Amino acid sequence: MPIVEASAGIVRAATELQAGRLVAFPTETVYGLGADATNGRAVAQIFEAKGRPRFNPLIVHVADRAAAELIARFTAKARRLAEAFWPGPLTLVLPRRPEARISELVSAGLDSIAIRVPAHPVAQALLRAAGLPVAAPSANVSGHVSPTTARHVEADLGAKAAMILDGGPTELGLESTVLDATGERIVMLRPGATTREAIEAVLGEPVGGGGRSTETGVADADVPPAQLRSPGQLESHYAPRARVRLGATDLRPGEVLLAFGTPFPGAEEELANLSPSGDLIEAAANLFAALRRLDATGAETIAVMPIPESGLGEAINDRLRRAAAGR
Ligand code: AMP
Ligand code: MG
Repeated sequence: MPIVEASAGIVRAATELQAGRLVAFPTETVYGLGADATNGRAVAQIFEAKGRPRFNPLIVHVADRAAAELIARFTAKARRLAEAFWPGPLTLVLPRRPEARISELVSAGLDSIAIRVPAHPVAQALLRAAGLPVAAPSANVSGHVSPTTARHVEADLGAKAAMILDGGPTELGLESTVLDATGERIVMLRPGATTREAIEAVLGEPVGGGGRSTETGVADADVPPAQLRSPGQLESHYAPRARVRLGATDLRPGEVLLAFGTPFPGAEEELANLSPSGDLIEAAANLFAALRRLDATGAETIAVMPIPESGLGEAINDRLRRAAAGR
């Protein structure tokens, strides 16, 4: 597994990212497993490499606030937080700009996007060299402890990253604090390395949200924070308006087809295909955009062809089952 001393590896790592491959890199919090956030197939590989059973949204890493402003809209409060804490271990969830070329898989189909500007010099150098927004969760297998050294990454992810940039042990070893900054009231979605007190001091007002501090930095954030699970808060999952029928082997009146592999005859109209060749990485990359497109036809029901439960199929089916149950 190619662990490369960071100062010698930045240029190659940037090239790997641009080519759609995964690169593990140090940040001041933990090591991240990065992919070009504009490339859906690259992002799908993150979920496959980590063995994540769900498509939870990922944090996009950019070099500075100017790059973040191209992806998301900032309220005055959000801008104050960015000015006070970036670069640093604070993630802001913001309204996504519709024109931003970020893969829908990054934000799991949501209209919001989580963004952070890391302070670590290696992360900064990589982001500037690549010239891309980089989606990166912690570089560990789903459910394992977040990695704070290049060796941890190697032990956990084996050959799944094209490259591991070694920048020594990470300074904080705790994940970034995640704030919902989409509205007027700032809400803490996940406690982390930037403290509530520091945030409240900048805002001059209390921050909403409880959060479970025991979760922070201990295990992988595959379970959404408590805030996201309670209704009325930020909507945690994209759900189509149409009904969703799974395991479809025929097309009924009022239905449009979401195909996987070769569609059955008679379903050529109003069709989206997750992957004509039956490739689960391609299917994951296309999932949210395809659901949106079919939903926009105004059809009553989206009929979904069977998708295998292996590999990324588990996360794809998880999302589809929740879409089907959501109505
Ligand atoms: P990780 O994947 O470990 O980097 O953690 C990312 C954290 O940010 C998780 O707690 C996600 O649920 C949260 N997150 C990312 N994007 C969003 C979003 N658009 N809305 C709400 N929470 C988000
Ligand atoms: Mg994690």
